[in-house]
Amino acid sequence: MSSNKTVGKKEDKMRISFDLDEVLFVYPETHKTEPPLKFPFNKIYKERLRYGTPELINKLQEMGYEVWVYTSSYRTEKYIKNLFKHYGVKFDGIVNAMRHIKEVQRDSATTLPQKLPSMYRISLHIDDESIVCSLGRQYGYRAYQLTDQDDEWQEKIIKRAEEIRHLNELEELENAPQ
Ligand SMILES: [Mg+2]
Repeated sequence: MSSNKTVGKKEDKMRISFDLDEVLFVYPETHKTEPPLKFPFNKIYKERLRYGTPELINKLQEMGYEVWVYTSSYRTEKYIKNLFKHYGVKFDGIVNAMRHIKEVQRDSATTLPQKLPSMYRISLHIDDESIVCSLGRQYGYRAYQLTDQDDEWQEKIIKRAEEIRHLNELEELENAPQ
């Protein structure tokens, strides 16, 4: 697909990350959701996925994006992996609170933002929190804010991702040695 690309050292795929709480995990009272898992898995994994989540993640990966989770929650990587496996989703990377503290915050004297997608070369992060989205400019990542039920969330995120991928490609061309 991109074999005829003439610039760039590596065929790096663009990375997109999703927050979990209030973004991919929502409540049936306020959002359309995917069906719960069958017994006994519904007793282990109680979170409900925003309707269309598996379809969107798989679609983005088919389109050549890496899809990550970036959450401030302490759910383990294993828990997140297994939950999504039941819905046919496999993420390319997972950053939870433990990993963020270990790899991003480390022993910095100042408290860094709760998420720093640019540290993981993530170009687009989807989050419900305004603060996370507004810090993007300062910390070098782009964000898409998603909170409410939106029947067109898949199309909107794909559109945003395509715009950013295009911008990144242009930037790469600009920076290519003459
Ligand atoms: Mg959230």
